[in-house]
Amino acid sequence: MEKRVLVLNLDHYPIAVVPVQKAMVLLLLEKALVLSTYELLEIRTVSQTFAYPAVIRLVQYKAIPYRGVLLNRANLFRRDRGACQYCGSTKQLTVDHVVPRSKGGKTSWSNLVTACNRCNVLKGDKTPEQVGMQLRIAPFTPTLSYFLASYAERQAPEWMPFLASSLGHLQKK
Ligand SMILES: [Zn+2]
Repeated sequence: MEKRVLVLNLDHYPIAVVPVQKAMVLLLLEKALVLSTYELLEIRTVSQTFAYPAVIRLVQYKAIPYRGVLLNRANLFRRDRGACQYCGSTKQLTVDHVVPRSKGGKTSWSNLVTACNRCNVLKGDKTPEQVGMQLRIAPFTPTLSYFLASYAERQAPEWMPFLASSLGHLQKK
């Protein structure tokens, strides 16, 4: 799988995760500098070879309004670590409205969970209480930091030193 690149603002605060192609554009336009690379990986073009960036930093400060994490299927599955929030299954995942839409349930981080198809069908058009099902954790609104840390743990330990300063709960190595 292609590794992704962590983008830091001029003040070293993490602001985005981008595909490597986008990172290379920022680097080639001299809008960013490489702070860390993935060892043993490289980017090859027809005529050149580059180190594969893991963490880059913008050369100019970018003012970013706080936007939060986009609510979509992929991010919801990511928040729930790819597991049904009722039974823990990782197969045939769907999106469940905890309080069904027909009962006024909203499409929001606090009312959506990842559910396997089986649990979704079992639950039907009811609330978990009505059918005696229990959520493993209460649904919450994830932050960018939450995603970065959980991604870095699994896929990009190279990011950790750069996340430590902005994430109070992460221990420095
Ligand atoms: Zn399930």
